[in-house]
Amino acid sequence: MMKILLIEDEAGLILTLTDRLQSEGFAVKSAADGESGLQLASTETFDLIVLDVMLPKKNGCDVCRDLRQKGIDTPILMLTAKGETIDKVLGLKLGADDYLTKPFEMMELLARIEALLRRAPHQTANNLAETFRFGDVAIDFRRAEITKNSQSIELSAMEFKLLQFLIENRGAVHSRDKLLDEVWGYDAMPSTRTVDVHVAWLRQKLEPNPKHPQFIQTVHGFGYKFVG
Ligand code: CA
Repeated sequence: MMKILLIEDEAGLILTLTDRLQSEGFAVKSAADGESGLQLASTETFDLIVLDVMLPKKNGCDVCRDLRQKGIDTPILMLTAKGETIDKVLGLKLGADDYLTKPFEMMELLARIEALLRRAPHQTANNLAETFRFGDVAIDFRRAEITKNSQSIELSAMEFKLLQFLIENRGAVHSRDKLLDEVWGYDAMPSTRTVDVHVAWLRQKLEPNPKHPQFIQTVHGFGYKFVG
């Protein structure tokens, strides 16, 4: 049985979510503030953490950062209130896997949870080397840091996830639909065009000659593959 930890201070929401998730077959535990949530997440193993941003004692961004610093790689879905744009970006930079803006439909939450559990990128990452090099590029997966010729390169969260997926599955050809499913993770917008745009950005940032990509290759009629 999959175990979910809810860190949320709205008692009504905890009750609703716990009921619904249990009826979907999940085991659910909850914490009503950031400190006890962090404590629980550090001492028990969960398959997924649903983490509110605005929490008493310790906010969700700090909890997320602390968990990642402790090396706890459980997928984290953050809940943000409308207008917390900065928190969204910060949340993902701090190592959250996805976020949902309140108020949300229960079906949407369930879809995100299922996508994260299906994807479970961190389980794969645990089995990988923590660093990877190709050409002049060096990647530190743990720290989500990339350098090219020892210069730091800024990637968005999705660019990083896409690159990581391609590298973890290097040599194999992936269709745009598969990449959307594996990297973006749920069947909403974005379109397959999004994949092309992100690939173009990655090439621009990382390839020695973006017009003639050596590492992130197009396989015409199929999709993309990483060679390196
Ligand atoms: Ca809250």
